Amino acid sequence: MDLSLIIPVYNEEKNLPLLFEAIYSVMPPLLSQWEVVLVDDGSRDRSLEVLRGYAAQDVAHVRVVSFRRNFGQTAAIAAGIDHAVGETIILLDADLQNDPADIPMLLAKLDEGYDLVSGWRKDRKDNAIVRTFPSRIANWLISQVTGVHLHDYGCTLKAYRRDALAGFRLYGEMHRFIPVFAHSIGARIAEMPVHHHPRKFGKANYGLERTAKVVLDLLTVKFLLSYSSKPIYLFGGAGLILTFIGLVDLLYLFIRRFWNVPASTSPLLMVGVMFAIMGFQSILMGLIAELLARTYHESQAKPTYTVRETFNLDKKA
Ligand code: UDP
Ligand code: MG
Repeated sequence: MDLSLIIPVYNEEKNLPLLFEAIYSVMPPLLSQWEVVLVDDGSRDRSLEVLRGYAAQDVAHVRVVSFRRNFGQTAAIAAGIDHAVGETIILLDADLQNDPADIPMLLAKLDEGYDLVSGWRKDRKDNAIVRTFPSRIANWLISQVTGVHLHDYGCTLKAYRRDALAGFRLYGEMHRFIPVFAHSIGARIAEMPVHHHPRKFGKANYGLERTAKVVLDLLTVKFLLSYSSKPIYLFGGAGLILTFIGLVDLLYLFIRRFWNVPASTSPLLMVGVMFAIMGFQSILMGLIAELLARTYHESQAKPTYTVRETFNLDKKA
């Protein structure tokens, strides 16, 4: 199988016929070995029946996964990736805001030797105040924090080599961080402007609150990537600084006693004790986190490195 399209579907019954029309006009001329994996994320409308109809008509290309309830777009994408068998994977939305006509262009870019080609909705057709503007800030922030510079993390339409998706699981709203994880395992990443259209049918599932979730996810992602194999560096580092400030402060109070300045009436006493305690606690938390990190990596046989290829070795580590 050369290519798998993965499409999360939640209450898109009216969009699905148009989606299939667009897919059928793009895919067959392009490739013969392709599949589309549609994940019905517990839709409350007739989406699943519509999908079932298409699956019955085209057993060779259409695959459907149906969730028992709504688990969210990220879970739907994760399920799609788990069930897809293609060497190349392209994610897109079911509402036709992404344009399947961009697929050949993304594939061509991938063939230039990239592991991931990220779509960029340069001319985005969503509400400017609650969606486009906050997302610009979020994209800037993610780029700064992670060091992976993309204009549009939130665009679902992206193309991936299967290797670039190995070794990490997606939680929360994290599908937008796939490029960051991929970068961390050494993927070569390119970006391309793609088309974007307003929604014709149905309504968007997200508003401003998503930006808050994205920022929180960013904290998690940054922590996982930078410190998951050495958490004591973060906790212990903060702990050492706090303890040091606390001890210097207490020492200052102690020395002042020789000039008969009472320590107990100074607010610095409280500050010093607080810092010393917090610092000590933070170091202890770092040690606990070190234990957890070992369980995390070793229980899943997760190495702390990734190998691109080996020479003269039978086993790819
Ligand atoms: N979606 C999903 N589960 C959800 C919400 C959305 O599978 O709980 C799907 C939805 O059907 C669409 C894609 O995720 O294919 C993007 O959703 P939406 O268009 O609402 O997001 P936006 O384009 O506004 O970011
Ligand atoms: Mg949409």
